[in-house]
Amino acid sequence: VRRFDLIVIGTGSAGTSIATTCRAAGWSVGIVDELPFGGTCVLRGCDPKKVLVGAGELVDWSRRMNAKGVVTKPLQIDWPALMRFKRTFTEPAPAQRQRSYDEAGIVSFHGRARFVDRSQLRIDGEIVEAKHFAIASGAKPVPLEIPGEEHVITSTQFLELDRLPSSIVFIGGGYISMEFAHVAARAGVKAFVLDRGDRPLKGFDADLVARLIELTRAAGIDVSVKTAVLGVERRNGEFVVRARQGDKEATFPAALVIHGGGRVPDIDELDLQAAGVARTEKGIQVNAFLQSTSNPAVYAAGDAADGGGLPLTPVAGTEGETVAQNLLRGNHRTLDFSGLTSIVYTIPALASVGLGEVQAKERGISYRCSTGDSSEWYTYRRVNAASQYKIVLEAAGGTILGAHFLGPFAEELANLFALAIRAKISKNVMNETLFGYPTAASDIEYLLADGPPAS
Ligand SMILES: Cc1cc2nc3c(=O)[nH]c(=O)nc-3n(C[C@H](O)[C@H](O)[C@H](O)COP(=O)(O)OP(=O)(O)OC[C@H]3O[C@@H](n4cnc5c(N)ncnc54)[C@H](O)[C@@H]3O)c2cc1C
Repeated sequence: VRRFDLIVIGTGSAGTSIATTCRAAGWSVGIVDELPFGGTCVLRGCDPKKVLVGAGELVDWSRRMNAKGVVTKPLQIDWPALMRFKRTFTEPAPAQRQRSYDEAGIVSFHGRARFVDRSQLRIDGEIVEAKHFAIASGAKPVPLEIPGEEHVITSTQFLELDRLPSSIVFIGGGYISMEFAHVAARAGVKAFVLDRGDRPLKGFDADLVARLIELTRAAGIDVSVKTAVLGVERRNGEFVVRARQGDKEATFPAALVIHGGGRVPDIDELDLQAAGVARTEKGIQVNAFLQSTSNPAVYAAGDAADGGGLPLTPVAGTEGETVAQNLLRGNHRTLDFSGLTSIVYTIPALASVGLGEVQAKERGISYRCSTGDSSEWYTYRRVNAASQYKIVLEAAGGTILGAHFLGPFAEELANLFALAIRAKISKNVMNETLFGYPTAASDIEYLLADGPPAS
């Protein structure tokens, strides 16, 4: 039996950060993954996705500039070539990750891990033993539990498609469906998004989402709300998605059906009971130090942990670092999610940081919003794009509580406000900062003041 100070399950952002930091402090560390090393973000999530989004943005920008001085034949996405470009990012990643483990002296295992008892793990046929374990096993698509589920492909398979079909139905109105639908539409696919709730993107500002839905429909994407998928059938080489809309039934034929219906922690197969590790619906049950509440030798981080953060890469990274510090020096570090930025890479993007208006209200904070449609501001008229914003401010005083943007520069504006919220930079300092002009940031004084002065 091989023995380690620490074994980490999962080679994504969370697991890699735990393994690397503990190994650098001199611990003997093993790490295991059943899939090629690198985790979701690098291989099957953020990184490959944004390569595709980049191409979609270019198509959209060129269309917006038609009749505004840019005349081209319609720009088109060559999907197989774009996928080849995408693979230049994903294909080298597992070997790079393996090399970095080897160089650090981290022992890596390929295989599926399961607990045998409180100190041992089975990795396929091999038993390994450790003083500590870190569960960083990520998330998986939630089972849809509908007839015909076997016809539905996942986000991972979408990111590997060599050819695009003529039409796609996306089940669920979360960020994955919305982002993929926007890319697919720019590549010439007829896309349908079916959401069973009142609106897609529930965690985001309702006003900005309403505008995004308008823009989504204008891009040719069919968005249906209050549409609960009942099942998927295969008919004449095509698929038909059956859904309930109120007391009626609707059908959506499509060449491909994609699961965008949410993800859950990937911890069902770990035999947690054997190690006495308690869980909730949202992941491994942990205390404020990300330590299992029922087995002190076990910590958890990232999408697999119920640590109170969103299932996003920066959260996985910071949780991983927190686990490593607590393992090495005893429990002392807790999490601070202030200024966490969450971005939907639709075209245009929707980006959100800090408190939403609803959250401020729920917390009984006395707040005010600076909000408006900025499409006619120079920054957006120049690129012929729609834009809208909402900044949540303390009612008295200059504290910025949250910032929400829809438009071409949304993601970087949100990042600037993430810094402001994190570092408690006041509205006045933001206003006085001499941002380069003309840029989206040079509008910040207007964003904080209900728009530019009337001209
Ligand atoms: C399509 C898509 C797009 C996304 N886009 C973004 C984005 O733009 N921005 C953002 O911040 N986040 C995005 N995310 C979310 C982000 O990818 C995750 O939050 C992040 O990767 C979580 O990292 P992690 O380390 O917790 O887990 P992961 O990176 O998922 O790593 C977990 C690893 O554990 C392995 N594993 C699981 N169980 C076992 C087992 N029993 N034995 C061995 N190995 C096991 C898995 O194979 C996996 O490789 C996206 C996710 C998806 C699916």
